[in-house]
Amino acid sequence: MLPAARSTRLIALLGDPVAHSLSPLFQNAAFQAAGVDGVYLALRTDTRLLPGLLRGIALAGGGGNVTLPHKRFAATLVDEPSEAVRRTGACNTFWSADDRVIGDNTDVAGVGTAVRSLLDTEPQGARVLVLGAGGAARAAVVALAQGGAARIDVANRTPSAATALARDLGTGGHRVFALDELPRGERIPSYDLVVNATSLGLRDEDPDPLPAHSIPAATAVLDLVYRRGGTPWVNRLRDRGIRAEDGTELLIQQGAASFQHWWEIPAPLETMRAALAR
Ligand code: NAP
Repeated sequence: MLPAARSTRLIALLGDPVAHSLSPLFQNAAFQAAGVDGVYLALRTDTRLLPGLLRGIALAGGGGNVTLPHKRFAATLVDEPSEAVRRTGACNTFWSADDRVIGDNTDVAGVGTAVRSLLDTEPQGARVLVLGAGGAARAAVVALAQGGAARIDVANRTPSAATALARDLGTGGHRVFALDELPRGERIPSYDLVVNATSLGLRDEDPDPLPAHSIPAATAVLDLVYRRGGTPWVNRLRDRGIRAEDGTELLIQQGAASFQHWWEIPAPLETMRAALAR
């Protein structure tokens, strides 16, 4: 008897826009290196199409990622949201088991690993400044709280969003405070870590999230924005001798956590890194 035909699994990135995404590049390289039978495709998806595509692909045996602007909507579409989805209200990874659609927000695990890699340790007891109050900032605050940060200040262009974030995530003993405005002056207060979770740095003409000269030398900086060769801000900070990383490691780590959900094996991290570096 012939063995039952196996079908290639569709792993899809759902968002709009998706053409710029590097996920197909490093995920397909990882699928090949790991010898799994899947293909990763980016599908430009509007709000109307999201529920059918997400649930249909998952229940047909596939899975995927969700990106802007749908992460919050996706959180409402899954049958089993992870703790990270419940806390952040956002879902970036989906798949199915036993006819139920499962969702996780692997940005939380990704930020946690990227912070550990930058600091060489957990942010236990750290004082942290998070710039921004959107989805990435929420993932960062949850990860930092899980890592044991002692105090997390959140500053955002629109202060009401920072207040809402602190209200939503400041419960349960975590010390999350909204600042009315960015710390100003020649030197910001002495934080152990500054995280940029705004979209500043995506475009060449963007101002720095904070002036590089205002960051004390002992403060480490994690920029969640990534660009080939590092963001201009990270490069300026490094020139001043400050420990700083852009969002490339987060991109890889959130992708690796998603890979593990879909295939139930560890992701080939070095293959992912090499694909991005090419
Ligand atoms: P989002 O929900 O749209 O939030 C955007 C944030 O940026 C908001 O806090 C917004 O402030 C702020 N902002 C936008 N333009 C600004 C400006 N001109 N000046 C000051 N603040 C500005 O987006 P998100 O999902 O949180 O993503 C934020 C960034 O994180 C993205 O650009 C992405 O590059 C990065 N990210 C990277 C990874 C990775 O894998 N490396 C993963 C997730 C996200 P307002 O509230 O005032 O609008």
